[in-house]
Amino acid sequence: MTQILDGRIVRDKIAQDLRSKILNLKSRPKLVIIQVGNLPESNTYIRQKVLFGEKIGAIVKHKRFDADITQKILINELLTMNNEPSIHGIIVQLPISKHLDADVVIDTISPQKDVDGLTSTNLKKLWENKTSAIIPATTKGVLTLLDYYKIPIPCKKVVVIGRSSLVGKPTALAFLNRDATVTVCHSETKNLKLETKNADILVIAVGKPNLITKDHVSKNQVVIDVGINVLPPQAKLGVQVQPLLGVVPLQAKPETEPPARRLVGDVDFENVSKVVAAITPVPGGIGPMTVASLFQNLLIAYENQVSK
Ligand code: NAP
Repeated sequence: MTQILDGRIVRDKIAQDLRSKILNLKSRPKLVIIQVGNLPESNTYIRQKVLFGEKIGAIVKHKRFDADITQKILINELLTMNNEPSIHGIIVQLPISKHLDADVVIDTISPQKDVDGLTSTNLKKLWENKTSAIIPATTKGVLTLLDYYKIPIPCKKVVVIGRSSLVGKPTALAFLNRDATVTVCHSETKNLKLETKNADILVIAVGKPNLITKDHVSKNQVVIDVGINVLPPQAKLGVQVQPLLGVVPLQAKPETEPPARRLVGDVDFENVSKVVAAITPVPGGIGPMTVASLFQNLLIAYENQVSK
């Protein structure tokens, strides 16, 4: 029978663990979430982070700036936070306004406080397989979920579909660092099915519903669906379905979001789950793992900054 890799169960266990650790600290870890503008999908992500942070006893401060903030002012704000000892983690909720250089903005965050693991300093550490690397939250969530379900990684053939700096590339690197043999596929990959069928572990981070069908997979595989696509309520899952947003929806729905949008991953779950050995659902797979991993990173950042 196919094993469902339930990220909510693991997220809740991580929450319990973080909560008991935080209770024993001499102060509370503090995360600042920077938002530029007011995108509903960003509000959704941020609310989930704030809720999780409150649950485990961390302090989470949400700072929202106008969409037209200048790069200079934003950078000065970040530099001030870098120097504030009561702040242990800083993240910039992406995407930010197009007139800002996201790479420069992210790289302004002190690597010690970079709990998203996206500064060039932390990505270089991941590249070099340094144990001090802060691993990007989604990548970390994928690995933690596999570890929880005791799915071995070393020597396995891992195929990652997607090569973004946010998900695909760091995930491929992290698997390589765990001694997997890694293939990375993308939009120019010639014969995707040939690559995917050979995988022991198949990770999909694309943002296209139904990209992976039962013809792409084989039995004994583990399928990790990172993709998040929000479909209109009545959409039929045909080949041409377009996502409305490539974002995580709210658990508690905001007033601004119409009801009953459907959330799907990149995998035809219904049919693929009949073939493979194990699979993550969407929702309830990597999404909750990403939030939990961010706060695991916050605790690491806190411990690195606060003397015992
Ligand atoms: P992205 O920057 O748009 O990257 C998408 C990648 O998919 C690109 O590398 C692209 O290839 C590749 N691709 C596009 N069409 C393809 C095709 N037909 N076959 C093979 N590869 C194809 O997206 P992202 O930021 O990495 O996010 C990917 C997905 O993960 C999205 O659905 C996003 O919402 C989701 N996500 C989920 C979480 C979570 O917590 N679960 C966190 C972050 C992101 P090229 O490089 O050739 O263009």
